Amino acid sequence: MTPEAMRQAVESAHAFLEPRWRDHWHTICAVVSMKSGNRYTALNVASRLARAGVCAEPIAIGMAASADPDDAIVFCATVNRHGLIIPPCGVCRELLLDYARGAKIGLPGIDGSGMRLAPLDELIPDAYESTDRKPSAAAT
Ligand SMILES: [Zn+2]
Repeated sequence: MTPEAMRQAVESAHAFLEPRWRDHWHTICAVVSMKSGNRYTALNVASRLARAGVCAEPIAIGMAASADPDDAIVFCATVNRHGLIIPPCGVCRELLLDYARGAKIGLPGIDGSGMRLAPLDELIPDAYESTDRKPSAAAT
């Protein structure tokens, strides 16, 4: 995936969020890009009960797994309403390990704007590995 395609994916996530943004309810948008070129964008879903809320990344991953179960996620980034990249939380990093192991992850630039990329192994060094539960072939 080219840097230009990643930039376009991030811009599409920002454009997707803009008309859907609802303070405290839908505040960020994740985009996952597939090896095939398909792309899935999703909002977070907040809740009155904080632990019932869901980040945007699991929803976008679920959309990709539902629509393209044999494809591989090659890029994931999440933006806020200002178009700034939001790093994935720890839970989402763990989920990305299962469904997007080889993907590049968008992170904020050093000054907080722009985007830099990191492999998941850099975001979760020495991750727990289960030999009993393995992700689908597309995720590896
Ligand atoms: Zn998260």
